[in-house]
Amino acid sequence: MIIVLKPNAPEKRIDELITEIKGIGLRVDVSRGAEQTILGLIGDTISVNEVRFEKNDIVAKVMRVQEPYKKANRLFKPEGTVVRVAGESIGGKRLAVMAGPCSVESERQIIEIARQVRKAGAGFLRGGAFKPRTSPYSFQGLGEEGLELLILAKKETGMPIVSEIMDAAVLDKFVEHVDIIQVGARSMQNFSLLKELGKLKVPILLKRGFASTIEEWLMSAEYVMNGGNENIILCERGIRTFETYTRNTLDMCAIPIVKRLSHLPVIVDPSHGTGISWLVEPASKAAVSLGADGLMIEVHNCPDEALCDGNQALTPEQFEIIMQKLGPLAELEGRSI
Ligand code: PEP
Ligand code: MN
Repeated sequence: MIIVLKPNAPEKRIDELITEIKGIGLRVDVSRGAEQTILGLIGDTISVNEVRFEKNDIVAKVMRVQEPYKKANRLFKPEGTVVRVAGESIGGKRLAVMAGPCSVESERQIIEIARQVRKAGAGFLRGGAFKPRTSPYSFQGLGEEGLELLILAKKETGMPIVSEIMDAAVLDKFVEHVDIIQVGARSMQNFSLLKELGKLKVPILLKRGFASTIEEWLMSAEYVMNGGNENIILCERGIRTFETYTRNTLDMCAIPIVKRLSHLPVIVDPSHGTGISWLVEPASKAAVSLGADGLMIEVHNCPDEALCDGNQALTPEQFEIIMQKLGPLAELEGRSI
């Protein structure tokens, strides 16, 4: 249930209303916009009669939220969420671009790529240390050593870092050093991991599971938000369909749909979404035109020798060209890159 308050409702009366709501066993999420204050009521609202709130003269409107996701619902925060981290923001006017290799492979590799993607305009360095590989015989990532190298690249370049967590056992290390913790497609419904991440303040990049509906994806965001961590960035990375030309089918319409359903920022990963390096440019252009808040792009200094996902990796030079081409498209959307 959502209670929209009248403009200029006195603080004292708002506090009294919040106390009343808490008194009937519900939690209250207060969203103070420039124009309006909105109270989101969380809990078992089935038996609560909205008339009791409609009678209150500071209340403009009471609405029942039909969707199962509440805190992630656009109704709770019509103006949209901007996630701020390390001097950068995601969901604001400037598009957030996260770039870097699929996997951290060596000190030289990660530092060189970090410098190049920063020069091309990326705001964040991505790099996998713990890799969720389909085959146990494939390169599994450098693990903690990979994370150390990523931290070193952050020190060298000043770029905030994004890396995937697979297991809560290494959470402390992530919390201390990683600016955005990535939950991969394969972990999107690891609910115990999501609950642990809900206890943090660190922003979470929540990728869409490749067999998940938009609603299931938003429910996973709800798990993290329900724990108290509302710094979520959603990432569309393609879903599995009957089409096999591309690695996944990038669900482009998910961008405007999720932007309509939720206030959370949405970025797109055209690298895993297509699996083919030459498709990264058109897919990135489409994502920006459809209103994405940013992109996550795999870049490798030598894609042919990459230990993971070389087929979809761009060279730093190709990445730089795409960044330049995206500028005018971003502008058409009232954004910058
Ligand atoms: C990744 O970003 O490296 C990755 C494994 O992505 P996804 O979880 O989308 O497959
Ligand atoms: Mn990858």
